[in-house]
Amino acid sequence: MTSKDIIKLSVAVVALIGAGYFIWANASDSTHDAGDETKTEWYCTGCEKSFVLNGAELANSMRLQEREIAEQKGPSDGPKARGRGDVTTVNIVKCPFCEKWTGEAARTCEDCGEIFLARTKRGETAICPKCKWDPHTGHKVEGDRAETARD
Ligand SMILES: [Zn+2]
Ligand SMILES: [Zn+2]
Repeated sequence: MTSKDIIKLSVAVVALIGAGYFIWANASDSTHDAGDETKTEWYCTGCEKSFVLNGAELANSMRLQEREIAEQKGPSDGPKARGRGDVTTVNIVKCPFCEKWTGEAARTCEDCGEIFLARTKRGETAICPKCKWDPHTGHKVEGDRAETARD
């Protein structure tokens, strides 16, 4: 098993845990008055709008999707990398605006308030496209680390 496989696997596991958590949060909702804490942010890549879903809405409008990880390699590396694409599993939701399954997990930047996709096309945690705030550290990324690989 290569380290890439392990990363791939852990991404899938995290996605499953995430789905399980939402279901659990929704189920335990009846013991609380407000379900506000279960609100999650999403961003539609189709109509480019952000929206918020609570636990109950999420249970009805979320599903898992397998998707190939887009490799950001130079054109010369292309041909030999094809054939066996890396696949990751992501949670997608139905967009309340255009009603397509193009809603993806989003995050609000704690620094500038920008709403952006939580993951990059490669399945990595994305940082704020405006100010480079990093959700992992809670601080802005120094220098030009933005789109470079983390491993
Ligand atoms: Zn939409
Ligand atoms: Zn920001």
